[in-house]
Amino acid sequence: MLNRICRLRMLVPLVLMGLVLLAGCAQEPVKTEAVKESPKTAKYVFLFIGDGMGLPQRAATAAYTGKQLAIDAMPAQGITTTFANDRFITGSAASATALASGIKTNINYIGVDPEFKPVKTIAEMAKEQGKKVGIVSSVSIDHATPAAFYAHVKTRKMYHEIDHALASSGFDFFGGGGLKDPTGRKSKAPMGDALNKARENGYSIVTDKGAFMALKPGDGKVLSWNKWLQDGQAMPYVMDMTPDDITLPEFTAKAIEMLDNDEGFFLMVEGGKIDWACHANDATASILNTLAFDDSVKQALAFYDAHPDETLIVVTGDHECGGLTLGFAGTKYASHFQVLGGQKVSFQKFTDEILKAFKEEGGSFEDMKPIITAQFGLKFDGDPKADQMVLAEFQAGELKAAFERSMNGETVKGGDYLLYGEYDPLSVTLTHLLNQKAGLGWTSYKHTGVPVSTSAVGVGAESFNGSYDNKDVATKIMAIMGLEPKPQYVTATGTRVASN
Ligand SMILES: [Zn+2]
Repeated sequence: MLNRICRLRMLVPLVLMGLVLLAGCAQEPVKTEAVKESPKTAKYVFLFIGDGMGLPQRAATAAYTGKQLAIDAMPAQGITTTFANDRFITGSAASATALASGIKTNINYIGVDPEFKPVKTIAEMAKEQGKKVGIVSSVSIDHATPAAFYAHVKTRKMYHEIDHALASSGFDFFGGGGLKDPTGRKSKAPMGDALNKARENGYSIVTDKGAFMALKPGDGKVLSWNKWLQDGQAMPYVMDMTPDDITLPEFTAKAIEMLDNDEGFFLMVEGGKIDWACHANDATASILNTLAFDDSVKQALAFYDAHPDETLIVVTGDHECGGLTLGFAGTKYASHFQVLGGQKVSFQKFTDEILKAFKEEGGSFEDMKPIITAQFGLKFDGDPKADQMVLAEFQAGELKAAFERSMNGETVKGGDYLLYGEYDPLSVTLTHLLNQKAGLGWTSYKHTGVPVSTSAVGVGAESFNGSYDNKDVATKIMAIMGLEPKPQYVTATGTRVASN
């Protein structure tokens, strides 16, 4: 058809016009190719969400390792706005609901619109298509981000109700962190033990690493978590893990192995502890968790290499956290990312284990100094100009003041919030000083409103180029799954397309 139009146009006797049209005709076969390819749908769909992972978290990780992240090397790159329906700076519940369902909702709402009407998630749509579905997170599996793919509740704090939604989701694989309230200790209307209900619904509950690694397709539905849950039923920070722990890439690889089938699958993987590290302004913990997140994406990329014409991988963040930036007034233009390598434990492990034991025994700031040097690499003697790790006198003073507050167990009040947030004063001052030496700055202990990066590879990935909102991530995925790219409400009798 286009060729015929070209031939007709060539008959126009005006030489000048003919030249213009020739140029036009020469481009047209490219367009027809693109039209032919567009109806292709993805059988295997991955959505990776770095919680609290904005551009600075990605850039700091690449700068620290000196290598390009796999997610930054993906062919499609976009900029994504994250605001909630009722607040400019979003939270994980509202953002994950947008990413999962294509609808903007209010802060703390899970899988419902601003009027509390349940919205169907892309995971539920995939299940209806006959695909297998997996949900993986490094924080508790009923936390806001994973919950927004299988639960529909008024607030993210309804953990018991979320746990029951998980048990009756019919999804095939859950992995990572544990459940916060399976028995309903904090619920106004307990519904019985959600773990029992999961067992009744055919889930094997697996927490031992050996048993987990031995799982094989055909073993049925799996609900698995790492045996050591460090804080809030979450997996430990990567830097605190031992070989006994199941890593996020291992959970991802096992999910792929268990979900792979001829009907296809949908897998959501959340790097949840990136956010928690950034709330506490711990750059090293954030970077090492971002690296594990990138390694998890590499598991999906290996699957994509084997199924390039049937796979879509999308990677995004739900929001930035901490107001991290690559630059700090104290170092002017200098960056010293390598100093972060001096940190051996996360702020969490330092607070919960090392500082706790020190407090029980008692001791002076002089006694604490060698512990600080061993765990964070910061030194108290020497020339700060000659050795990056040596603290200036005023910095040692900041640490001593924080140490005294920690030892006295003083609660942080008023303007001191800017110094310590809601964290242990000594732990947060240690990461602040180390991060500042690296040339990194933090402006908040909360989320920020800066847009995040979205990356994609595979079927339909080109639609993730450019600038768009987080709710569009869901509708773009729906389109590539062969569905109408519109939010859908969950109804008692079925579903209907939302009117907006
Ligand atoms: Zn957060």
